[in-house]
Amino acid sequence: MTDSTTLVENPFHTARLKPARKGKRPPKLLAVVHQSGCTGCEVCIAGCPVDSIELVPGPNPDNPVFQQMVEIDISRCIGCQNCSQDCPWETITMYQSDDVFTAWSSETLKSELYVSEEFVEKVSFK
Ligand code: SF4
Ligand code: SF4
Repeated sequence: MTDSTTLVENPFHTARLKPARKGKRPPKLLAVVHQSGCTGCEVCIAGCPVDSIELVPGPNPDNPVFQQMVEIDISRCIGCQNCSQDCPWETITMYQSDDVFTAWSSETLKSELYVSEEFVEKVSFK
């Protein structure tokens, strides 16, 4: 989905303005959305205690709700598992934190939170 295998957090996404996760170490488990099964119903968003589930708009800017999906800001997820239990389509899986970016890269079709280093360089040094 990106032009590089090195993925970094998107410093331009507004999620960066939300409070950072507390604690030095990541939780044992982190949530990843299997986006090909996500209907964009938004059920998971309401139950997230740290507001770390983000909407990814659909392809048509005139109707962004159509074919929207969600992704999880891995850097803020606290691993509570609410979303994986709440999703009516069972499309959120909890992964060991060491494995989460590998899972994320295979299950994510479209992201606005994580981008390639190349992209960041291009935008930063224009
Ligand atoms: S596991 Fe908990 S903190 Fe992480 S995205 Fe799901 S609801 Fe939010
Ligand atoms: S509850 Fe499941 S299907 Fe609905 S938006 Fe969240 S991940 Fe997608």
